[in-house]
Amino acid sequence: MTLDAMAELYQQMILEHNKKPKNFHKMEDCTHSAEGFNPLCGDHYNVYLKCDGEQVLEVSFEGSGCAISKASGSMMTTHLKGKTRSEALKSFEAFHQLLLGKEADQEVLGKLKIFSGIWKYPSRVKCASLSWHAMKSAIVGEGKTTTE
Ligand code: ZN
Repeated sequence: MTLDAMAELYQQMILEHNKKPKNFHKMEDCTHSAEGFNPLCGDHYNVYLKCDGEQVLEVSFEGSGCAISKASGSMMTTHLKGKTRSEALKSFEAFHQLLLGKEADQEVLGKLKIFSGIWKYPSRVKCASLSWHAMKSAIVGEGKTTTE
């Protein structure tokens, strides 16, 4: 895919997921949850997971923030559903590498590759990574996360 095509797809995906975020609701019967706050932009979300042992059965999020943070959270929920907790952490690592503009595991990332140009905008990186940090906190049990 050319860089232009990737940039266009990025815009399109952000708009779509911002307008109709997937799994955008509170989960009452979650097994893991964490709160994420990005003071630089004001993005504020809660992320919920329902796990059965290692298996991630459902992922949802709710809160408010900019288009990038919402789209990223939305794409994360669909990406993680059905994965194991260790796969979820592997996806976190790959996505984090991608956001930093480093070599990342493309196979693990799948559709998340559209965020590949975001490292050029450091202030937006936190928007894109917020729900992922919250997800990681939820899984490893810290419960609360802030990206500063
Ligand atoms: Zn933001």
